[in-house]
Amino acid sequence: MKFVDEYRDQELARTVAAAIAAEADPERNYHFMEFCGGHTHAIFRYGVQDLMPENVHFVHGPGCPVCVLPVSRLDDAVELAERHGVILCTYGDMMRVPGTKQRSLIRAKADGADVRMVYSTLDALKIARENPGRQVVFFAIGFETTTPPTAVALKAAEAEGLRNFSVFCNHVLTPSAISHILESPEVRDLGIVKIDGFLGPSHVSSVIGSQPYEFFAEEFQKPVVIAGFEPLDVMQSVLMLIRQVNEGRHEVENEYTRVVTEEGNVKAQALVSEVFELRKSFAWRGLGTVPYSALRIRDAYADFDAEKRFELSVKASREAKSCECPSILRGVKKPTDCKLFGTTCTPQSPIGSCMVSSEGACAAYWTYGRFRDQQPAKLEAAE
Ligand code: SF4
Repeated sequence: MKFVDEYRDQELARTVAAAIAAEADPERNYHFMEFCGGHTHAIFRYGVQDLMPENVHFVHGPGCPVCVLPVSRLDDAVELAERHGVILCTYGDMMRVPGTKQRSLIRAKADGADVRMVYSTLDALKIARENPGRQVVFFAIGFETTTPPTAVALKAAEAEGLRNFSVFCNHVLTPSAISHILESPEVRDLGIVKIDGFLGPSHVSSVIGSQPYEFFAEEFQKPVVIAGFEPLDVMQSVLMLIRQVNEGRHEVENEYTRVVTEEGNVKAQALVSEVFELRKSFAWRGLGTVPYSALRIRDAYADFDAEKRFELSVKASREAKSCECPSILRGVKKPTDCKLFGTTCTPQSPIGSCMVSSEGACAAYWTYGRFRDQQPAKLEAAE
């Protein structure tokens, strides 16, 4: 398949792996954060880590939209479905994320709430048109990739006068999250999380372009290479990062040129800024409160803002005890550091958000990597 097979070619992978091995300085370590959960999955699914020299390390970042949504916002969504009796529409992954006391949307649905999984914002609009006597709320989550479709839905609802439709907006922004990570004491002062460069997001960058990363590449002197999601994309991007580190450069480079441009999708950006504006602050799971890191619906579309339409109670939300998702999302710990990993917590019965989504680090470890560390011992035992 074009644009897929050539980026999974074994011979090419061996060639790039050999170049990485030749150019990685054996006297130093390289720590590269892959911001996106999509990259985490590519690394595990295709065994990219096994093709790296021992001194090239991947640090998993917070780029999974389901994982970073704080428990309080999920609890709000459950409240909308249960107490306000709306038809709550959301993407599939959100249904199973546990909130306070393991309450999830799918449990609310099992108890009678009207929660519906949709594939797009247009599905939610259709449900609103078909149910004029019911309030329909779209539970919007995601980074810059999923924001334009939400803007389209809000504009369509406004144009149609669809007064029973609203959006519970939880869209978050990538560059501010990366800056926040780089400013954290764990990275800046304590050296607990070592980051020599970033594998930049691919889908997000197709919307925002490569230009927004220029600031922190310069400010924090960290190279960024925007990387596609196929294994050869990841490997080529690692090679580009190694070259930058070796040469003392900290630039924004674009490996994913078949999709990402410097300016991004200008039309989508205009649409988003027409409908949304920056929130002064937003609480992320794992990162805490991050200034100007999320979007809210502009006053011009206030009639379609679920936070204004419904009065939400103040809650005593809390994370599951012993779940290490917050530390994993900051790159401080790995999924296997969590004592619940693979015991109490599995994709079938997730305790934290990182085990739910296909982009979550715990789900990636479980699906592709949970036996990695056990293999040598097993082989020795078999000999
Ligand atoms: S394994 Fe489960 S409980 Fe542990 S950090 Fe991951 S999601 Fe949380």
